[in-house]
Amino acid sequence: MNARPTRIGLLGGTFDPIHVGHVALARAAQAAYGFDEIRFLPTAISWQKGETSTDSQHRLEMVRRAIAGHRGFVLDDREVRRGGNTYTVDTLSELRNELGRDAVLVLLLGSDQLRNLATWRRYQELLTLAHIAVTRREQISLARLPESVESLVAEHGRDTLPEAPSGAIVFFGMPFVPVSATRLREQLLAGERPAAVLPAGILNYIDHHQLYRPARGQP
Ligand code: ATP
Repeated sequence: MNARPTRIGLLGGTFDPIHVGHVALARAAQAAYGFDEIRFLPTAISWQKGETSTDSQHRLEMVRRAIAGHRGFVLDDREVRRGGNTYTVDTLSELRNELGRDAVLVLLLGSDQLRNLATWRRYQELLTLAHIAVTRREQISLARLPESVESLVAEHGRDTLPEAPSGAIVFFGMPFVPVSATRLREQLLAGERPAAVLPAGILNYIDHHQLYRPARGQP
């Protein structure tokens, strides 16, 4: 009897900080595709967003705490250990080498990231290494995609996730969770306490380590 190949969801991000939108995305993907594992992969330096002002060890620790107790959710710190600019194609190559050619790898993206995809380094190679599963994020539409992304979807779009290890673009639904890390950082800097959009324990962690506070000498 052939065992089903391992199915792994991959959620990359700056997680500065992790919020309930990230967790909701992972839960919706888990429900849609029955992953054996979902790996959270915090970036070292996001070449698109630049260096975060938050130390990567804090971003890692917040992810670790936020996913503790979620069955199958795992922190993978390889991008921070690798250091420098993070390119997803490098991460997927490493994972493919480690997990073998049969593993079903699925890169999870919000619609903002799909719209951006053609700006990613060697983006055409991503689908030789993994599938891509996309969900709509708040008001960020999946219609009228940039032309190069549209043609990728025309070629690789499928209704369901195939058994193959890589190569398809699929779409899944999730309830809208109107939160972004950018907005959260602004609220924290302004002294607000957005506890409802942070996973349990994260606001305490932020307070304890005095993260997202104005730099000394600034108003
Ligand atoms: P920032 O505001 O700093 O750009 P962010 O909130 O977009 O951060 P990231 O860590 O960059 O968070 O996002 C990681 C992944 O999670 C991306 O694929 C992004 O589309 C997705 N994501 C983030 N927030 C949400 C949300 N509220 N709903 C659905 N997906 C989300």
